Amino acid sequence: SEPIILVRHLTHVYTQAGGPQKVALTDVSLEIERGSCTAIIGVTGSGKSTLIQHFNGLLFPTEGEVIVDGVKVEEKGMDLRSLRQRVGLLFQFPEMQLFETTIFNDVAFGPRRMGLSPREVEGRVHAALESVGLAPEAYARRSPLELSGGQRRRVALAGVLAMRPSVLILDEPTVGLDAEARTEFYRYLRVFCREQGMTVILVSHDMTEVAALADTLLILSSGQLVAWDKPQKLFARVEQLLDWGLAPPPLHELFALLRQNGLPIPAETYTLEEA
Ligand code: ADP
Repeated sequence: SEPIILVRHLTHVYTQAGGPQKVALTDVSLEIERGSCTAIIGVTGSGKSTLIQHFNGLLFPTEGEVIVDGVKVEEKGMDLRSLRQRVGLLFQFPEMQLFETTIFNDVAFGPRRMGLSPREVEGRVHAALESVGLAPEAYARRSPLELSGGQRRRVALAGVLAMRPSVLILDEPTVGLDAEARTEFYRYLRVFCREQGMTVILVSHDMTEVAALADTLLILSSGQLVAWDKPQKLFARVEQLLDWGLAPPPLHELFALLRQNGLPIPAETYTLEEA
């Protein structure tokens, strides 16, 4: 079937009035398959957030094109609102954007702007809260301020899920969470990917995390796509990874994480070396 996201020869140049130009992406081409879990990795400044912002129309190509679900992403003449419903983006530290007095209202914020009936909004809010392990009866009327950091982040995730996106993009989803909250977060992500067939794109610099969750890795280095493969394959290329500022995860850490999360060790064994 046709890929859900298709990027062809994408170049992005930031221009500031009177300032210097900054080339953030150069000639990037890639495809994201429906139902896949893809991780985009690379050091700070490699272009990861510039790339994902093209997927929901927060940025537009300087050159090249981005096609989401068969529709070309363009500044003019396209329905950006509908694009942003279909491609949900969870920003870094999303809990900082919770501002309503109740969890219900925070999760309802997006659906209310979609022209749904109050009944439909409520149905979506409850389903989204359930899907991140927060029983609506217990949580909907409470303030987000009463929750732990991990729970607040899941409320923010529920706010994106309530829009029923076909692609879910998460920017450094577990940064700043403790080990327990992380494990919990992974559990939900895996359900979305493996059981619900949602397309998930994960931006991360945590190699253990991406190895445990993603079936495909894309590596950016200085604005260029330098590698695109399964984690098991990429982690064998230690020298090159180090050139891109990355290191394969230590085997014992990776296997411990896979085991803790009840994930199978892929049939194709990891051939990675201790960094
Ligand atoms: P990453 O997400 O991998 O850290 P970014 O996409 O944020 O990388 O940045 C890629 C490059 O573009 C960096 O050199 C960064 O400094 C530059 N950049 C990012 N945003 C802007 C902006 N708004 N204006 C100018 N340069 C920017």
